[in-house]
Amino acid sequence: MKTTHEIDILKQLFENLSERDKHQFLSQITSSQSAIQKVIQPREVKACPHCQSVHFVKNGKRNGRQNFLCRDCNKAFVEQTGTILFGMKKDIAVLEKYVHCMIEKYSLRKCAEICDINLATAFAWRHKILDALQKMMEQVELDGVVQADETFTTISYKRHHKNFNLPRPPHKRGTVATKRGLSKQQVCVPVGVNLNGLSIAKIANLGRPNVTDLQKVLGGKIAQNSVFVTDSLRSYQKLSFDMGLNHILIPRNKYKNGVFNIQTVNNYHKRLKDLIFGTFKGVATKYLNNYLVYHNFVNFAKDTKKNKEVVLFDFIRNTFCQSRTFEISKRPALPI
Ligand SMILES: [Zn+2]
Repeated sequence: MKTTHEIDILKQLFENLSERDKHQFLSQITSSQSAIQKVIQPREVKACPHCQSVHFVKNGKRNGRQNFLCRDCNKAFVEQTGTILFGMKKDIAVLEKYVHCMIEKYSLRKCAEICDINLATAFAWRHKILDALQKMMEQVELDGVVQADETFTTISYKRHHKNFNLPRPPHKRGTVATKRGLSKQQVCVPVGVNLNGLSIAKIANLGRPNVTDLQKVLGGKIAQNSVFVTDSLRSYQKLSFDMGLNHILIPRNKYKNGVFNIQTVNNYHKRLKDLIFGTFKGVATKYLNNYLVYHNFVNFAKDTKKNKEVVLFDFIRNTFCQSRTFEISKRPALPI
């Protein structure tokens, strides 16, 4: 009753305002409402991150964070233990905003501005999120019509320190290599895609791939009853024989075989190059595997941006991934 009474008084006061004051009042109300911070619920801890036991208990709160104690291994943990969120000093809402920026493919500088974090943090977060995303992509198995083809880029040492002793002069941005005149300077990335937007890609070797190189990336990741479509490179014939797949081969100088072609995987390559050389102005080879999963999830997977944001944010909170800031730049220049 009291509430109704107060609202009536407010209404009366509002009615007494001039039109101009009414407008001003309403705009102030809406802006103060949007300033109310959205509260992100703590995630449900289902098992001890140290030993996977479900026998754990709550063990008090410190700095607003719930502590847990495992009854089996006797180790303490918090909600963030074992995930990339562990040790992050920013509020989780900032990380959620960062995930949005990544789905929008914003530059590091723009991500840093929007989230009000420094560039080094923006860089570390990007790669921690992508390290976690690797785990999602490891689960992908391609089914249905599966197209495979490899793509190449020259080795790029972008972001290496000036004093770093390079094995060869750096390309400023890295360039797209052609299949003709393949040299050992060219990083080979075998790619498999299906028609539903699932994809697999990883650096395998330098130069033209043999069947072992293809195995490293595609081995065991193509469903038995799928139709495997590739060009005439012999390594694919060996691969499909080894894996017992139904193989459709596109003859040399042809672009299709019956109803089958490799247009979807070629389109994947084209959009990958747009992402790497257009959107991100070139990426170092040491981080290329991360940009491949970025491309797989953000560009190639068939879902709305909004869904991808929810899925990615949820995934990084719930996935065991202990990527650490100081280790990110220490990765090998050539991850093969
Ligand atoms: Zn435990």
